[in-house]
Amino acid sequence: MIKYMNENTCIICGSKEKKYDFDYLVVQTLHIRDIGGEKRVQALGETDSGTVCKSCAAKRLGQIEAQTFPVKRLAPFIAIFLLGVIISVFSIGKDRIIFMLGLAAVACGIMGCYSRLKVASVKRKKYSALSNDDALEEAAWDVFCDALPKKDGDNDLTYIPITEKTLAMKNGDLMIMYDLLPDIAKEAWNILHNRKQD
Ligand SMILES: [Zn+2]
Repeated sequence: MIKYMNENTCIICGSKEKKYDFDYLVVQTLHIRDIGGEKRVQALGETDSGTVCKSCAAKRLGQIEAQTFPVKRLAPFIAIFLLGVIISVFSIGKDRIIFMLGLAAVACGIMGCYSRLKVASVKRKKYSALSNDDALEEAAWDVFCDALPKKDGDNDLTYIPITEKTLAMKNGDLMIMYDLLPDIAKEAWNILHNRKQD
C-alpha cells in the first residue's frame, strides 16, 4: 500500500528530496471467466500524480542491474521446491502417487524461480541499453508502480505514466505497451492528449 500519500514527498521513503514527478492514468481490468473462456473488461480511472526521490530510483536501478530481488518474490517457489523435496524423500518406496506429487512440486518450484530470473534478466538487458538518466527515470517509474495498489476490489490496477514518451505513442503502441483493449487505448490516448492541452 501507499505509505506516503502526500504528493510532495517520495512515495517510497517520504523524503522531501523530490526528483521524479509522475502524472499517471489508472487502468482498471476485470477478468471474467465464463463458459466461453476468459474475458477482460477494462475501464480508465482517474489521473493522479506522485513523486519518487533520486535515492529510491538509484536503489531500484542497482537492484535491477545486479538482478537482486526482494527475496519474497522467489520465496513462494523456494517453499514449493522444499516442500516437494520433503514429500518426495519421505514417500520414496512407500507411496508412488505422493512421491510423484512431490516431484511435481519440485519441478514447479524450479520452473517458478527460473521464470522470475528470466524476467529479471530481460529487464536488466532493457535497462543496460538506456543512458544512465533514462535508466534512472525508468527505475523510478518501476519502483513507483510497485508502491501503488495492485487491486481495487476485483479489479486489477495498472498505470500508464503521462510522459513525453507515452504522449508520443499512437493508440496501437499504448495498446501493446500497456495491455489495453482497442477502445480503451483510444480513450487513453484522448485523455493523455487532452491533458496536454490544458
Ligand atoms: Zn525515496
